[in-house]
Amino acid sequence: MSVASDERTVLDATPKQLYIGGEWRDASGGGTLAVEDPATGHTLCEVADATAGDARAALDAACAAQAEWAAHPPRERGEILRRAYEQMTERADELALLMTLEMGKALAESKAEIAYASEFFRWNAEEAVRIDGRYATAPNGAGRLLTMKQPVGPCLLITPWNFPTAMGTRKIGPAVAAGCTMVVKPAKLTPLSMLALARILEDAGLPKGVLNVVTAKSASSVTGPLIEDPRLRKLSFTGSTEVGRKLIEQSAPNVLRLSMELGGNAPFLVFEDADLDAAVEGAMIAKLRNIGEACTAANRFHVAAPIAGEFADRLAAKMRTLKVGRGTDDVDIGPLVDEDTREKVTELVDDAIRNGAEPLFGGDDVRAGGSGGSAVNGDADDGAAGRLDGAGHFYAPTVLKGVAPGSRVLSEEIFGPVAPVIAFDSEDDAIAAANDTEFGLVAYVYTRDMKRALRVCEALETGMVGLNQGMVSNPAAPFGGVKQSGFGREGGYEGIEEYLETKYVAINMD
Ligand code: NAP
Repeated sequence: MSVASDERTVLDATPKQLYIGGEWRDASGGGTLAVEDPATGHTLCEVADATAGDARAALDAACAAQAEWAAHPPRERGEILRRAYEQMTERADELALLMTLEMGKALAESKAEIAYASEFFRWNAEEAVRIDGRYATAPNGAGRLLTMKQPVGPCLLITPWNFPTAMGTRKIGPAVAAGCTMVVKPAKLTPLSMLALARILEDAGLPKGVLNVVTAKSASSVTGPLIEDPRLRKLSFTGSTEVGRKLIEQSAPNVLRLSMELGGNAPFLVFEDADLDAAVEGAMIAKLRNIGEACTAANRFHVAAPIAGEFADRLAAKMRTLKVGRGTDDVDIGPLVDEDTREKVTELVDDAIRNGAEPLFGGDDVRAGGSGGSAVNGDADDGAAGRLDGAGHFYAPTVLKGVAPGSRVLSEEIFGPVAPVIAFDSEDDAIAAANDTEFGLVAYVYTRDMKRALRVCEALETGMVGLNQGMVSNPAAPFGGVKQSGFGREGGYEGIEEYLETKYVAINMD
């Protein structure tokens, strides 16, 4: 199957090699890895499949550049990021198209991600010149206490496929600003967005060796040797809790500095006094942003019993208007990233229905055939209509009403456009249900009662809360979780701290 000419132009212009020490080079074993279009199942292109030796070469380059980069004037580090931000803004359309081709989300969503991602460069361009320490008199008056901030050193940054650019800039931005060098390992499903980003940073003047990118079929075979290497000082990971746990274990022998942005299971609470229109609008964003493939996606909707039925009906009515199809076409919802993801969503929905849930819309998969972009506006409740033939990994937006406690869809990360609705009787019950999970990334709360809002925000065991809004992500705010959603923060003033060490100098004044 051929791709349209603008798509081919963007693909042809994107580097496919490893980026090591400022050079683009093939994998030393000569291997390649195919990148698939999730809307068609067809191969878009091949990129280099790095070996363990290539990964070591990338760390060699990062280590060689570290001392000079740490000494580089902060203003210049910031200006490189600023130029990269400007280039991303100028080239937003082509970067968005590339992202949609390899990841599947609708073009408008990819453009929104490029804007969001570029803001991490702008924010950290401004932070680079604000790294400071402090000077204090010791409480007994005898000595002086000096603290200074220094870059952590060479970092390994591992990113997921769901936000292929933003999860990169959220790490690369503060690392560059702080004066750290790095090896980046993007997800094998979406390597192209990271390679395009590396080219932008190269063009923006980032010195050789500061950023190195290795793409690989087998993640652990390239990350393992680096994590074992005593020269590596930090690992920042965004991905599943399952893989995060393994990486924490692997990092123990060298006592690596860690940042872990892991999985979520966000509760979305709607109290009886909420503005229901606003709650439904917020639910659409919290559920369907990124096709539901977001760590921040509302995973379960806990709604006050008297309004739970109406909320579910209104949410389903909104979802009914959405078009599903290839992200490059005029659609709202693209395909899921791969067949495993779609299988998992199907399993969770089937389990909920077996336990008594009523699917209000969809509840079955929708297939679209290729770049013809046969968008489907699923318009039947039986789930069978809306199915298209073809190879894409499509799943129709679905509301599940009356989900029974204990259904897997409530406790497992769905990663698809499925909204389970479950009723609660009291504020205490709502809080208990919200916190009944090992995850603690984000929660959403809809209420017009200010005292209740603050009570509930305080009681929620999460790193973030969306209060009367369905999206929390903001480069100026500290993003991150508690419990098994991880530790460390990205964005805000806190983001750069992850890449800085504090050194204390005790000064004798006798
Ligand atoms: P994943 O399977 O954990 O993969 C994440 C990254 O780790 C990918 O680059 C992956 O490479 C790599 N990886 C996989 N196994 C590895 C191993 N044994 N050793 C070293 N690296 C390994 O997660 P995903 O499916 O890409 O992303 C979805 C998950 O990320 C969800 O759980 C979501 O909640 C979470 N997420 C969290 C945040 C947050 O900020 N908290 C943000 C976005 C996503 P390959 O893909 O090439 O195998």
